[in-house]
Amino acid sequence: MKEDSRLFRLESQPLSVPVLVPMPAERPYSYAVPDGMQVQPGSIVRVPLGPREVAGIVWDGATDTVDPKKLRPISEAFDCPPVEEGMRRLVDWIASYTLSPPGMVARMILRAPEAFDPQPWTEGLLRTENEPDRMTAARRRVLELSSDGLAWTRSGLAHAAGVSLTVIDGLKAQGVFEQVMIPPRSVVAAPDPGYAAPDLTDGQKAAADVLRERALAGKFSVTLIDGVTGSGKTEVYFEAIAAAVESGRQVLILLPEIALTQAFLERFHDRFGAKPAEWHSDLPPRMREKVWRQVAEGTVRVVAGARSALFLPFNNLGLIVVDEEHDPAYKQEDRVYYHARDMAVVRGHIGSFPVVLASATPSVESQVNALQGRYKRVALPQRFADAAMPDIRSIDMRKAPPARGGFLSPVLIDHVRKTLAREEQSLLFLNRRGYAPLTLCRVCGHRFQCPDCSSWLVEHRFRGQLLCHHCGHNEKRPDACPECGTFDHLVACGPGIERIAEEVVGHFPDARTIVLSSDIMGGVKRLRLELEAIANGEADIVIGTQLVAKGHNFPNMTLVGVVDADLGLANGDPRAAERTFQLLSQVTGRAGRTGKKSHGLLQTYQPDHPVMRAIVSGDAEAFYDREITERERSHLPPFGRLAGIIVSAQTRAEAESHARALRRVAPASDDIHVLGPAEAPLALIGGRHRFRLLVQGERRSDMQGYIREMLAAGPKIRGSVRVSVDIDPQSF
Ligand code: ADP
Ligand code: ZN
Repeated sequence: MKEDSRLFRLESQPLSVPVLVPMPAERPYSYAVPDGMQVQPGSIVRVPLGPREVAGIVWDGATDTVDPKKLRPISEAFDCPPVEEGMRRLVDWIASYTLSPPGMVARMILRAPEAFDPQPWTEGLLRTENEPDRMTAARRRVLELSSDGLAWTRSGLAHAAGVSLTVIDGLKAQGVFEQVMIPPRSVVAAPDPGYAAPDLTDGQKAAADVLRERALAGKFSVTLIDGVTGSGKTEVYFEAIAAAVESGRQVLILLPEIALTQAFLERFHDRFGAKPAEWHSDLPPRMREKVWRQVAEGTVRVVAGARSALFLPFNNLGLIVVDEEHDPAYKQEDRVYYHARDMAVVRGHIGSFPVVLASATPSVESQVNALQGRYKRVALPQRFADAAMPDIRSIDMRKAPPARGGFLSPVLIDHVRKTLAREEQSLLFLNRRGYAPLTLCRVCGHRFQCPDCSSWLVEHRFRGQLLCHHCGHNEKRPDACPECGTFDHLVACGPGIERIAEEVVGHFPDARTIVLSSDIMGGVKRLRLELEAIANGEADIVIGTQLVAKGHNFPNMTLVGVVDADLGLANGDPRAAERTFQLLSQVTGRAGRTGKKSHGLLQTYQPDHPVMRAIVSGDAEAFYDREITERERSHLPPFGRLAGIIVSAQTRAEAESHARALRRVAPASDDIHVLGPAEAPLALIGGRHRFRLLVQGERRSDMQGYIREMLAAGPKIRGSVRVSVDIDPQSF
């Protein structure tokens, strides 16, 4: 372990150390080190905190010069590899960048408490050179099995050989076996970089060579793999992973929706002969603990995980790959507001190792970084094996409107019919869960609204509920209007995927349809099965949300119809065009992955919108050029900087007056100004009223310093008021 030299020797063991505890504390707290206890920066310890005990991390530096006798002592030092220096610097960095208490960032590392104690070794038996006094058939079976040179558990060996435990014990008594201790099994086998190296095309090979070289260079770099859907980006970055694994380093692959990427794990297995360890919130606790521990010990070499995997205690990390780097799921907006892609780059910088970003539709930020030479761009402009990109057209809904009460244009329905006739699959995409986004009473005009949020309740007809998509509030769908009491006059306004499914079944009653969104009954397990079923061709028409838009490989899918291509453009967010472009590219990219002729159809009321034109023409470059020019002209990220300060409280008045008071103490500045406060885009969530201040600065402005000063000068946080800062907000 590379930090052994930093172990304090017993005589120089400090009397007290700083410990970062998982609390919103600005600094580590000081604790006394009891006689004989060995700790070093990074050690995970248990410490008293008020009336409780919590796990914390011994931090760097010295404690304040307090008499150690007055400090409370550390209760226990866990027998666990220390959190390495790069990780501790990442915590400090994120804390200062996001203006979060370092303890709250450290908390994200400390998420597998049982793992801090070593997992127990089990007793096992190992064959010696001694022979038994006499041979029986049972004994022969045991000896054959155990001649593999590996240790067996007593019961495992008895079971495998089909003999009773007394046979095993008899052999042991004769010295045929010796007792050994077996370490805990590793959660995944070691990946073999040479297991099944692919035949890359010339273009892929050139890209892979760049990545390999960078993976082995032993220094920080960022490479952006910019390649159309199906071009082999995964295939190519696997070569960077192979290189890193060969050189003995650990690898982290970040994926936006890990719970749904069984297919990815399989693919990794095909290439490396073993799966990567998974890390995400659906992992069972026992598994979490094992993965955490084995990452810390270095037994696990490759992890594929959601954004939180960034906080696993790697001790030898040498490469991070961020797949679908543009995906909004990388942004966490809870407690610590951070963007996992950006923090992955910081982690690479701190640890002097390469970072690879991959996307068919890179974020504008990454595009600009590549243009300005900070990132190296590696392009894969063609689909593998001459698979053509789908032929994409827009359907002008003003000219080809749907039948009354429907949402699908006759043009689209006709395409679905033809696709069915060819026995190929169609995907109808609408990024809206449920049946209808708004329910109102035809008699009095009453609209069903969430009591705790400023949003409409969404009807979910399969469940018979009205549901709030922001706080989860739900109620049974009533038959009568609660306002005027009239029965049977409630109308559903607008479509969700359930309603589209109803329309599809009306047109194609014999087709096999699957409706897919995150609120599917049966959760992630069911979702995985359904995705598999689609890939295996067991559905004719799929109706789904963005969940089906991303990453999947459906070999028989040749038609993608976007029900409402304008949907994401409606809000006033400056990122709306970028997001819509990315989503529409991704979803139409599901079509024609295996070379069959394929189509993408966009139902739109604005066929001349630059986003629609870019998708139809396939000219991504023109779109990015325009978008980048626009951002630069209006000083928006990445050319200028933004931060949101959200003030929330139980009453509107409290939230507003605190926000106004903050505004009044905003320091004067040449390069930074503050807008607002205004009601936040969602003014009420979960019963909390929200106001927002927007801080806008230049590219080089010290946003953090400015905001820190403002918060320090602001009023004391009182009552139900809460203030959170969102540096680089994703919507603004
Ligand atoms: P992307 O990640 O860019 O969408 P993938 O890496 O998923 O592309 O590749 C698309 C499909 O083409 C996959 O099924 C993959 O296995 C296949 N493929 C890509 N490159 C090769 C190759 N060189 N040899 C064999 N199959 C390939
Ligand atoms: Zn709500």
